[in-house]
Amino acid sequence: MSAEKISGVILAGGQGRRMGGVDKGLQVLGGRTMIEHVIARFAPQVDEIVINANQNLERYAAFGYTVAPDVTGGFAGPLAGLQAGLKAAKHPFVVTAPCDSPFLPLDLVDRLASALGDRQLAVAKTGDQAHPVFALVRRDVLEHLSAYLSSGGRKIDAWYASLNVVEVEFDDEAEGFSNINTREELRAGENGARLDSPPRPSMTDDLKGKSSLAPFSIPLSIESVVSCMDGYDPDALRVDKACEAIRACLTPITGIEKVATRSALGRVLAEEIVPAIDVPAHDNSAMDGYALRAAELAVSGDTTLKEAGTALAGKKFQGTLGAGECVRVMTGAVMPPGADTVVIQEVVQSKDGRVVVPAGQKKGQNVRYAGEDLKTGVPVLHAGHALRPAEIGLIASLGIAEVMVKRRLRVAFFSTGDELASIGSPLGEGQVYDSNRYTLFGMLQRLGVEILDMGVVKDDPAALENALRTAATNADVIITSGGVSVGEADFIKTMMAKLGEVLFWRIAMRPGRPMAFGRIEADGQSAFLFGLPGNPVAVMVTFHQFVRDALLFLAGRTGDYSVPLLRVPCEGALRKVPGRTEYQRGVLSNVGGEWRVRLTGQQGSGVLRSMSEANCFIVLEHDRGNINAGDLVSVQLFEGLI
Ligand code: AMP
Ligand code: MG
Repeated sequence: MSAEKISGVILAGGQGRRMGGVDKGLQVLGGRTMIEHVIARFAPQVDEIVINANQNLERYAAFGYTVAPDVTGGFAGPLAGLQAGLKAAKHPFVVTAPCDSPFLPLDLVDRLASALGDRQLAVAKTGDQAHPVFALVRRDVLEHLSAYLSSGGRKIDAWYASLNVVEVEFDDEAEGFSNINTREELRAGENGARLDSPPRPSMTDDLKGKSSLAPFSIPLSIESVVSCMDGYDPDALRVDKACEAIRACLTPITGIEKVATRSALGRVLAEEIVPAIDVPAHDNSAMDGYALRAAELAVSGDTTLKEAGTALAGKKFQGTLGAGECVRVMTGAVMPPGADTVVIQEVVQSKDGRVVVPAGQKKGQNVRYAGEDLKTGVPVLHAGHALRPAEIGLIASLGIAEVMVKRRLRVAFFSTGDELASIGSPLGEGQVYDSNRYTLFGMLQRLGVEILDMGVVKDDPAALENALRTAATNADVIITSGGVSVGEADFIKTMMAKLGEVLFWRIAMRPGRPMAFGRIEADGQSAFLFGLPGNPVAVMVTFHQFVRDALLFLAGRTGDYSVPLLRVPCEGALRKVPGRTEYQRGVLSNVGGEWRVRLTGQQGSGVLRSMSEANCFIVLEHDRGNINAGDLVSVQLFEGLI
């Protein structure tokens, strides 16, 4: 096949679950995206590149190659990517490589191609391990693959087993097949762990010339991640930019544990749930009525059938429906063999074992089919899904008693300030009771994390250092309140910075302007730090706008868990200066059938009553100016949130 042309398909269509649901191909490693590394090594080996991607299609298209999304829905894995690639490919042979293999061998295609012969597929192998996503395949297997996928098949090995395959040894290049699955690995790559490895002996001079890989030695610091973001200005940071900056630095936790299904409420699923049974397990009646064969009903006028017996939920009809017969069925009863339709009891006349059915019934009506809810082998829940009562019930409906979930995220928090008194001690002159720890405790509890309440820490360098070190060794995340505002003693900032890397931001928002974000290290352990402002309303607003999303992401949630914004008319006029996002406290209420929002009383960032009286934030966007009475404004409901 040496004269034949070959298309290269880069598989970038996954959900990057182990990286927390990011688009892996677009993650940056050594100053460029992973897919660019793959392109640099792969493009010189093939006659065409096709990128299989399912998200960020425009960004992929910007590389100038054909982009082919899956045609089989539901992120169905590498085989669906191969299918899309085979459909889009121009040439009779197709080689695949995954987007997260920035070190792929420079002679991958050559070696697969010389081994293929008259086989359908050549796949790379090192030692005992096959690397199924590095394969050369004839494009004409497309039909066979599509049939496999539409029958519900997803397993790459199982499909390969149905082909005529040759495995090709690459023992001398084992490193070339390593891939990057987690942010830790990304960081290891950044730090040069593997990327600085010397050129491989099998790399030919010819290929070396074509691949122009830059040396990688850029350390991955928080500063280096955020400072290259468009519009990053630590002294006037937009809310959306701050969220983006935080997200870019986080790595979801990886620990998992097994819990009883009943105890899994609020946890994050760590495995895919694939039904081993159909739900319902049998075709059954959706109503109380009579099961019959639709073909026996007259097109017009009544039909009289003989009642042959009864089927109840959990107690089926023993026998088969004979000609001219029907069976009385209750909701949930297994459909008697031979019956295909249920007529509700309200429309029939039943007397002395005879049942008169009116015309106008539709074949198949009122029947629930086996597998209608859940089908054997078709995944229903993916890792990263939060388990709510519906999911707990769904898992139970499959008879599954235990599930793998992510371990709980551990969050330590403390308040800082010499003026703070703890509940239970008398209030000295100039003191305030520490309320922030209570609102934080409540908000954290609602998120289902493991909580370490570390109390009040004085504005004292040694006490603060001690608290931060303890928190970093015991938790994944540290939340502090107070101490980050302009008026605060600088030692707090110095101390935080000394123990790790902490950025101090002035966010274009109200309330809650000052905030610190970073990582604290101690005894080889580290934790993300959120230094929230001290004012009680500012704590709640910044927690809600930044910390909530970060904690859910760290806990391993995938999918969209952003808080919905509703648009409703505002009752009165509101003052607002453009250039910052405001979170005013509002009351959403129904007046004469219409929802509208009004402001609660005093809006000061120390007035916690404004939160307690409100049931929503009125979110006034960054660029917005004054609001007139009756204008539409965005609101974020508190319910379910804080
Ligand atoms: P800071 O950010 O430390 O300058 O605090 C700003 C304001 O919030 C001051 O009036 C503090 O007294 C108040 N404050 C700080 N921490 C707390 C807390 N834990 N509970 C209640 N008020 C606080
Ligand atoms: Mg303070």
